[in-house]
Amino acid sequence: MRPARALIDLQALRHNYQLAREVAGARALAVIKADAYGHGAVRCAQALQEQADGFAVACIEEALQLREAGIRGPILLLEGFFEVDELALIEQHDLWCVVHALWQVEAIERSAVRKPLTVWLKLDSGMHRVGLHPADYQAAYRRLLASGKVAKIVLMSHFARADELDCPRSSEQLAVFEQARQGLVAEVSLRNSPAVLGWPGIPSDWVRPGIMLYGATPFEQAQAVAAQLQPVMTLESKIISVRELPAGEPVGYGARFVTERPTRVGVVAMGYADGYPRHAPSGTPVAIDGQRSRLIGRVSMDMLCVDLSDLPQAGLGSRVELWGKQVLASDVAACADTIPYQLFCNLRRVPRLYCEG
Ligand SMILES: *Cc1c(COP(=O)(O)O)cnc(C)c1O
Repeated sequence: MRPARALIDLQALRHNYQLAREVAGARALAVIKADAYGHGAVRCAQALQEQADGFAVACIEEALQLREAGIRGPILLLEGFFEVDELALIEQHDLWCVVHALWQVEAIERSAVRKPLTVWLKLDSGMHRVGLHPADYQAAYRRLLASGKVAKIVLMSHFARADELDCPRSSEQLAVFEQARQGLVAEVSLRNSPAVLGWPGIPSDWVRPGIMLYGATPFEQAQAVAAQLQPVMTLESKIISVRELPAGEPVGYGARFVTERPTRVGVVAMGYADGYPRHAPSGTPVAIDGQRSRLIGRVSMDMLCVDLSDLPQAGLGSRVELWGKQVLASDVAACADTIPYQLFCNLRRVPRLYCEG
């Protein structure tokens, strides 16, 4: 069998969840949208079920998959409903629902729900993606409460730049939020992973950690709390071929790499069809039998090449970690000009194997 696989460490996942809750001093919805950022939503939810205050997903399809797998407890739909007829399913499956637009307020007012809903009312405090305009926020809140269709409202907003630790924008967004919610007595939820890790002192009854659950830092620079995260996913494979090349020989498609010295080249069963980024350049770190080395040449669909010149012990069958506990996904992402979120979400084809520690 092809040796490429992703190991998912569920103990690390629980550690990171616990860290989020402790650092924030708040209840935490584990964000497991997009198949838990490529880690497998059902397995991750099962692993967190005992511990988690609830879960958050992007859409009702993701929520129903969890309910069908027996996941109980709160599940928040982060974008609410896309179509009005989802409200019946939201009621039936006891889902929590973001309301980010006036048409959704109106739909709830007109709906036939009998069991009052839990709504997270989202304010656009400056990210300008979704969320109610500050001028509409209080009226929307009052309309929802008056509708008789809503039992509880959590006040919510989302930061655009919380990963930039010296940027004043998050404080500005907080001020907009505080202004908009003046006088409303309700629980509050503002913080995603970078805000949990890097922005203490923001009011939080609930936090919404995503990427940090999977053990990757959202920051470009080192950060003390992020350093306590444990990587959950290890993407690994093996060396399937080795060759010795003299100096001056090209390696791989497009001859993007030419050997500068006699070079031992290892070929790894891993490529962009598995989700490894095609744009990772020569020099991107890998670990071979626990020793750091580097990618060389272009990543192809099913294979990539690594430099074994300084690793005489390594050879056919050596284990290669593309990212995990030795090579951080955030470092690979930085080399490939992307973010660990995208690396994880792009995972394909490789089997996921679950382990504890
Ligand atoms: C995805 C998402 C999160 C989680 O963000 P991370 O940066 O992964 O922690 C939190 N809140 C909302 C509204 C989201 O869409």
